[in-house]
Amino acid sequence: MSDLQRILDEITAEMAERSDRGEVASYIPQLGEIDPGKFGIAVTTSDGAVFTAGDAHEAFSIQSISKVFTLTLALGKVGDALWKRVGREPSGNPFNSIVQLEREAGIPRNPFINAGAIVIADVLLAGHQPREAIGEILRFVQYLADDDTIVIDHEVAASEQATGFRNVALANYMKSFGNLHHSPELALGVYFHHCAIAMDCRQLALAGRFLANGGKSGGYSVVSQERARRISALMLTCGHYDGSGDFAFRVGIPGKSGVGGGILGVVPGAASVAVWSPGLNRSGNSQLGSIALERLARAMNWSIFAA
Ligand code: GLN
Repeated sequence: MSDLQRILDEITAEMAERSDRGEVASYIPQLGEIDPGKFGIAVTTSDGAVFTAGDAHEAFSIQSISKVFTLTLALGKVGDALWKRVGREPSGNPFNSIVQLEREAGIPRNPFINAGAIVIADVLLAGHQPREAIGEILRFVQYLADDDTIVIDHEVAASEQATGFRNVALANYMKSFGNLHHSPELALGVYFHHCAIAMDCRQLALAGRFLANGGKSGGYSVVSQERARRISALMLTCGHYDGSGDFAFRVGIPGKSGVGGGILGVVPGAASVAVWSPGLNRSGNSQLGSIALERLARAMNWSIFAA
């Protein structure tokens, strides 16, 4: 597997040369301050080895990648009943779109668009104060990554809380259809904080191991094999919003992006991959992160469609 280190180093060198880095998300003011020149990548293989290159040890805002972890927790809490409140179809719309919600009576298309993740935050609030729900999510991520130094960046959370008017609109709209059980403020408080979890590529790749390993992480069972498969299926079909088809076409593995510029990729049975480059393409997915994953998947012959 030392081939893998060479490939990561080559990809990192290639990405350093590129000028087509996309645009850093500036609608969350704190994220707009990040250096677009950053690039990091980390891979953990199913035999437990970890490979890193570039800025793989620098923490960034995982944003929507956190939705993979909140979905996992919510399924653990309420099981298939979740699907009464959230759909499982690709949206074909931007991550913060409101139009579909009206036509579909307040039931978000999938758990990864913002509306879906806000419903999931509401599910995780049941029986808890917001602070406890946020703590539960953070502890779960720390457990998955086997790293209790992972924290929430409270400045990023505050920055989004102060400017996230569209998410406030989505939450209020769903509340009007009865699809939020708590107040929009409480559900949004949980949502903004889990989006503001800061992790580096290495930690994120480790946290994604359970999806690549049939539900197991470091020898422990996190979810059933069936559940790991289903979460991965949703990542493939919905993990990149209206860019999900293109990501599946180009990369061929399940992935989840965030507007902080991170992507978590899952190669079933083989590896968990995290990449970070802050500049985004038009669908709000990391521009160089997607290209780097495309290169890596090709070099390693990683694809869920591989014969
Ligand atoms: N917190 C961000 C938002 O709600 C998450 C979006 C994303 O990463 N795509 O806008």
